[in-house]
Amino acid sequence: MGGLSATRGGPVTVRAAAKINLHLGVGAPREDGFHPLTTVYQAIGLCDDVTARASVAGVEADTLGIEVSASDWVDAAAVPLDAANLVHRAAVALGELHDRPVGGSVLLEKSIPVAGGLAGGSADAAAALVALDRLHDLGTSDDDLLRIAADLGSDVPFSLIGGTALGTGRGELVEPVGDNGTWWWVVVPSDEGLGTPDVYRHFDRMRPDAPAEPPPADALLGALRTGQPLSLARFLHNDLGDAAIDLRPELGDLIVRGESEGALRGMVSGSGPTVVFLCESSDHARDLAGALMRTGSRVVLVANGAVAGAHVVRAHA
Ligand code: ATP
Repeated sequence: MGGLSATRGGPVTVRAAAKINLHLGVGAPREDGFHPLTTVYQAIGLCDDVTARASVAGVEADTLGIEVSASDWVDAAAVPLDAANLVHRAAVALGELHDRPVGGSVLLEKSIPVAGGLAGGSADAAAALVALDRLHDLGTSDDDLLRIAADLGSDVPFSLIGGTALGTGRGELVEPVGDNGTWWWVVVPSDEGLGTPDVYRHFDRMRPDAPAEPPPADALLGALRTGQPLSLARFLHNDLGDAAIDLRPELGDLIVRGESEGALRGMVSGSGPTVVFLCESSDHARDLAGALMRTGSRVVLVANGAVAGAHVVRAHA
């Protein structure tokens, strides 16, 4: 949140980052069906840009039109353009809050893989909340933005605030945490997405003994404060990792390959199937990325963290 202030009425572009979970502790399902989480999110420099315009030909001012353009590693066809898109739901929620139509034309420029465990849809929703708020000069308070975000999805509040943050509840209760490092990640997306609900269902089958309280993140939080990659590598933790690897055994092979090529540690990102590798430095990350491409990975990206949450990057008169 924050950044430049938009000129009323002109197109507004807001950038929002992918998230990875440095610690993802998952408890047994609650009565409402959600799993209680203790998670540490980090926003990394792999971002979607969301541009909202008042209207273009064919789009009524009070309806929302969504278009997508995507980097070549993103399956643009998998992004819904109708009411199923989280951006659409964000516009409806803002409209309900302010009791007025919130429409326009929204362009999603996606670099975050779809259904990748990187919260790309949540990033777009957070960016759309900020972009549409500025475009229509709604003046929504941060508290209201965070409340709407939590209703849209568990990861959306974090996508608004960015940085490195502790998430509790079902992940929607976020507070920034101390982080003294600049962390370098190699990010390896999969050609095919993995549905988050499928991975949670598989977790339930594999872990009928999951505790009511998710495992705490204290060790990881201590490692973040040291700023030392070796220390962080030791305490990275993902309770969904085994379930994702059981569904997609090749993810386990990829982690072994990356670690044998010198990564400090590899792990599944969130519910997968993206795998991330922690490196010591930007040079180390670039070397590892090269090695992974030489040994069979088609798409390998390098990103650093932590980066900002949803923020305005362009606002035109
Ligand atoms: P998470 O880790 O938060 O579950 P993810 O990164 O695994 O998310 P997303 O990229 O958010 O997955 O997409 C999950 C599904 O959400 C997609 O398969 C798609 O049908 C739907 N979706 C809704 N809005 C969007 C959007 N703006 N971008 C991508 N997918 C979206």
